[in-house]
Amino acid sequence: MEDANNNIELVFVPAPAMGHFVSAVGTAKLLLQRQPQLSVTVLIMKVHLIPDARINAYIDSLIADEKDINPRLKLILLPVDLDALKGHSDKASIFKAFFDSQKAKVRDYCVNEIQNSGSGRRRRLAGFVVDMLCSSFMDVAEEFGVPTYVFYALGAAMLGLHLHFQSLKDDRGILASEFKDSDPDLNIPTYFKPFPVKLLPSFVLDTTDGVLDHARRIRQAKGVIVNTFFDLESHALESLSKDNTVPLVYPVGPILNLNGIAKYRESEEQILRWLDDQPASSVVYLCFGSAAVGVFQEPQVKEIAYALERSGQRFLWVLRKPSSSGSLVPTGYSNHDEVLPEGFLERTKSIGKVIEWASQSVFLAHPAVGGFVSHCGWNSVLESIWFGVPIATWPMMVDQQGNAFQLVREIGMAVDIKMDYKTDSRDPKTNIPIVPKIVSAKEIEIGITSLMDNSTTNFVRTKAKEVKEMSRNALEEGGSSFNFVESFFKNVITNLK
Ligand code: UDP
Repeated sequence: MEDANNNIELVFVPAPAMGHFVSAVGTAKLLLQRQPQLSVTVLIMKVHLIPDARINAYIDSLIADEKDINPRLKLILLPVDLDALKGHSDKASIFKAFFDSQKAKVRDYCVNEIQNSGSGRRRRLAGFVVDMLCSSFMDVAEEFGVPTYVFYALGAAMLGLHLHFQSLKDDRGILASEFKDSDPDLNIPTYFKPFPVKLLPSFVLDTTDGVLDHARRIRQAKGVIVNTFFDLESHALESLSKDNTVPLVYPVGPILNLNGIAKYRESEEQILRWLDDQPASSVVYLCFGSAAVGVFQEPQVKEIAYALERSGQRFLWVLRKPSSSGSLVPTGYSNHDEVLPEGFLERTKSIGKVIEWASQSVFLAHPAVGGFVSHCGWNSVLESIWFGVPIATWPMMVDQQGNAFQLVREIGMAVDIKMDYKTDSRDPKTNIPIVPKIVSAKEIEIGITSLMDNSTTNFVRTKAKEVKEMSRNALEEGGSSFNFVESFFKNVITNLK
């Protein structure tokens, strides 16, 4: 007789953003490696609204390699219904219409391909794993009468902060926007140090409820997979597990894409050859994420250049151009000279390189890289941890200030350049965006010099190596993340109808 727990299928709905997508696919692969009776379908929304060449290249390479990866992994590109977007003019309503139309496509797929799959290998829908930003897709799971698990692409402390502010609003009528920067630091259960008001993510300050709605839905899930590991965020995870209004949390990470993207390998090779000629831990790597928000206007670019030159450090700097059309995807400079101080590239050619997009993990893995000036996106944080590279924090938006706070104040593997830098602040009265003050070359130079100090007293370097070991142990057989994968799967089986 066929075992009822065989041939069970999870449907993943990742968010179409680089950091979320890559880690969700990584999670699907991890579950498949461990569970031979499981199949996974990843339903991919290729957002033509954000024509991001990198995520599209990643999707294309995944689909091209699909057969080599695992026969139980299906990657399905959802068709886009352009008609559904007609009549919507502002970005928010276009995105909502896009997600709603994709929900219908998810439903169609599940009806046609899983429910009515007919003969052949019987497929039993065990549930959906939806990205935290796609929580509205839980409606589809409900229609099929199966549970939803949420994939939370940020850290556990941030998950706690997100839920905390939703509960403050819903249970006590307190809005995050009522707090003032001058107020005392806040007690947020998932941080063990008091949390500064000025570092609160804009998404909890937003009074329109979009992100808090996701938190409400997260509470209804049967489990939350978080891309983190126990030893990194033990305080946050313990505090979440004590709260019976929060579903079971599964820290199964770090889940990383360490292979880069095939399309960029050739250009990366040249940089790797240059890194091969640099002394160990001597190069500072600067990169501010995958999106258009991780770019600076010319005056700020110049301050960074002056800081690098004055610090005398070897460097590898990912420098992209702000998009003029307001797109979410940054563009490239035809020539970096157009934005850098005159003669900078010539003067620094023996110690540094300025580049466009390349796979970050490939560089962080190189022994010559000894420090990372980062916007502290969660994936960048995990990649830096995995390779034991300490960070100098320069966050831009959303969760990044909170991540910087954790890295500098709680974990101790980072120095601070400008933890309260924010590109997504708005004036509370006028709602006009607030342009952040320029960070001076001096401030940047101090941060870089302290990050790259190779004396034995550089505590952040020692700490980064310690945390690296913890991250590797977590994934080993018997490690915490290894065990959490097991318990997640048990949860899925228990919830089978
Ligand atoms: N990334 C990369 N090359 C770049 C910039 C980013 O490979 O030049 C990758 C990086 O390794 C990470 C992801 O893009 O995996 C960015 O995710 P993160 O959460 O750090 O930041 P986001 O881009 O979402 O702000």
